[in-house]
Amino acid sequence: MSSSEIKPLRILISGAGIGGLTAAIAFRQAGHSVKLFEKSRVLNELGAAMHLAPNASGLVRRLGLVPEMKGGIRVEWVSEYGTDGSLVFEIDASQTTDKYRHPWQLMHRVDMHSALKEIAVAKEERGVPAAIATSSRVVDVDFEENALILENGERHSGDVIIGADGVRSVLRSAVVGGNCSANPSGQSAFRFLLPVSEILADPVTAQFVAKTGKLQVWMADDKRIVIYPCRYNLLLNFVCCHLDARNCSHEEDWGQDANKAEMLDIFKDFFPPMIALLSKAPAGEIKHWQLLDLPALPTWVKGNVALMGDAAHPFLPYQGQGGAQAIEDGVALAAVLPLGTKKEDVADRLKLYQECRYERATRVQDVTRMLGISPTGNREKLNGKPGTPARASGPTTNSIAAGQFAEYNYNHDAYVSACEKLDQFLKEEKERSEDKRCLI
Ligand SMILES: Cc1cc2nc3c(=O)[nH]c(=O)nc-3n(C[C@H](O)[C@H](O)[C@H](O)COP(=O)(O)OP(=O)(O)OC[C@H]3O[C@@H](n4cnc5c(N)ncnc54)[C@H](O)[C@@H]3O)c2cc1C
Repeated sequence: MSSSEIKPLRILISGAGIGGLTAAIAFRQAGHSVKLFEKSRVLNELGAAMHLAPNASGLVRRLGLVPEMKGGIRVEWVSEYGTDGSLVFEIDASQTTDKYRHPWQLMHRVDMHSALKEIAVAKEERGVPAAIATSSRVVDVDFEENALILENGERHSGDVIIGADGVRSVLRSAVVGGNCSANPSGQSAFRFLLPVSEILADPVTAQFVAKTGKLQVWMADDKRIVIYPCRYNLLLNFVCCHLDARNCSHEEDWGQDANKAEMLDIFKDFFPPMIALLSKAPAGEIKHWQLLDLPALPTWVKGNVALMGDAAHPFLPYQGQGGAQAIEDGVALAAVLPLGTKKEDVADRLKLYQECRYERATRVQDVTRMLGISPTGNREKLNGKPGTPARASGPTTNSIAAGQFAEYNYNHDAYVSACEKLDQFLKEEKERSEDKRCLI
């Protein structure tokens, strides 16, 4: 193909969250034209932190986002405690630098989101800057015309349509058909942030921040508190997961202001310093998240439309992998659609994207589900009978299983893997066309 014949693909992305923005960067850097449609009026992320595990931190680095330049910090310690404050185990995670190809980091979601947005629209970056239309709620997709349909009636057609519209995706049911909404998992989480300086100033709570870069999990049988720092170790992020039979089925009920008294009541069996720590949560800033789940979908693609991130595979938070898998999807999508891909080849390439990603994302999702809290307690064996109590001391079977799974999870490079799949696909395609020529 001569360079004059090479035409960039017109990529339309519904949703400018972590996955949509990652895909936008990867596509623009590949030389395509990208437009994102975001329902929010302004592009703002949640005031919470996220893991940037090695499988994701390497990918964003390749796209030009250096997490430590944007407040990202390394995980230095991983500890597990019981409700009474007893240490179950502590691992020096600084050694993971040798174990994994990329650093294991923690970042404020706002910092992560802003950094991705900056790169997606930057003039000086490789390729043409992506365009972001805010206040643009996507309500449907027209597969004949290959067009996104907005709430205001506007239609935008492109060569590739990506559904990166999150856990409550609209494009999911358009692609898969029928009702495939994510459902309450029976678990919810309170989330908030506290300044490290405030915790350090109180002798009762200073112990929680004695070490920097510490990821600590406080386990009860049917609830857990996950605490880790972000933004240059200045803020401490709390995710307090518990069983919750309520059904907040409306979008508006989600991520809502939470009742502090309710949170303190749910976690009242933890030792007094933890209660003192939780009591510092600013009443108006605690958010309650109902954790939604969805069994693996039969497909993520239809024609020239593909789902990614939470739209394709919503994640429970127990491995901090939802954002990471969305990042892997975004990078893989662009890898299988390099510049020069013809519009008529897009549908097959999106099937290839699904082949690259489906098994892995589903596996990570399954293991995450198993690591979640359940009415039978956290200490059940993953491969044994549910509810079998583990040893009273020592790491829970959950922790051991999570550690073993981390090798598989963290050492994966979704970009290299998708490029290898594309090479193989093109080789086989060439062989097929040569076979056909021989027959003529
Ligand atoms: C309690 C909790 C803790 C978590 N912790 C971690 C963690 O530590 N690490 C991690 O990797 N992941 C974590 N996750 C998961 C992570 O937040 C998600 O998996 C990740 O944000 C998915 O990215 P996404 O782009 O698919 O969706 P989102 O980031 O949710 O983005 C979707 C975007 O689409 C927009 N949108 C939605 N509908 C429409 C529409 N109709 N039209 C246009 N725009 C639309 C939304 O406004 C949003 O901007 C956690 C999740 C929870 C609930």
